[in-house]
Amino acid sequence: MAETQLTAEQTTALRDWIEEGAQVRALHHEAKQTERLEELRSLAQQHGETKAALEDQTATQQQHAAAARAAENRADDLRERVTRTETKLNDGTGLVSRDLLALQDEIAGLRATIEEVELEEMEELEAADAAEARVAETRAQAEQIAERGRLLQQERASEGERIAGELAAHEQMRTELLARIPASLHGRLRTEGDYPPAAVVTAGACGACGAQLSGVIADTYRNLEVGGLLDCDSCGTLLLKLA
Ligand SMILES: [Zn+2]
Repeated sequence: MAETQLTAEQTTALRDWIEEGAQVRALHHEAKQTERLEELRSLAQQHGETKAALEDQTATQQQHAAAARAAENRADDLRERVTRTETKLNDGTGLVSRDLLALQDEIAGLRATIEEVELEEMEELEAADAAEARVAETRAQAEQIAERGRLLQQERASEGERIAGELAAHEQMRTELLARIPASLHGRLRTEGDYPPAAVVTAGACGACGAQLSGVIADTYRNLEVGGLLDCDSCGTLLLKLA
């Protein structure tokens, strides 16, 4: 049990030291930048998925473009065959009427096939165009994700600097306040544990662990002068009596 009775000046110093400690703990928590890190992880995953989709869509676009080129080549070959057959037909040398009819049928058949192949080429070109539009859209998405990631990294760095600066200022303040608190308490106040080494009582509860002061301790606390000290019977933290 602490028996020290602090002067008004020491009480103010310890109260401020406790408040500064809360600021320091909040800043240490903030320094982890948990939300930014989680978003960065999620962005990295999204970026990976978008890149994979981009590869798939690019492959699809290339397949349709290749199929369109193949159809175009087939149509060219067919048109050449029509030309050759027409030349033969117009020449007519050594052909009987049955041969002429057969050549006409052949030309008609080739022209029908050309129409089918041209239709196929058109469909493949349309599919290639649609796939290309998707590729452009996905590429823009990937760029947006990367941009957001860059922005977050910048924010993270500047926030890190701001927090480090504030922490240094609060630590400096605490060092100055500690000098105004009796040296007999310094050892306790420097002890790091699960709970802050010192706290004030709020609504009958320990400001460090949150436990309500039990009967005897609560009575003792009530009877303390301002600047009086006692230990929390739950967490052992040094409790400072304020007004
Ligand atoms: Zn406590």
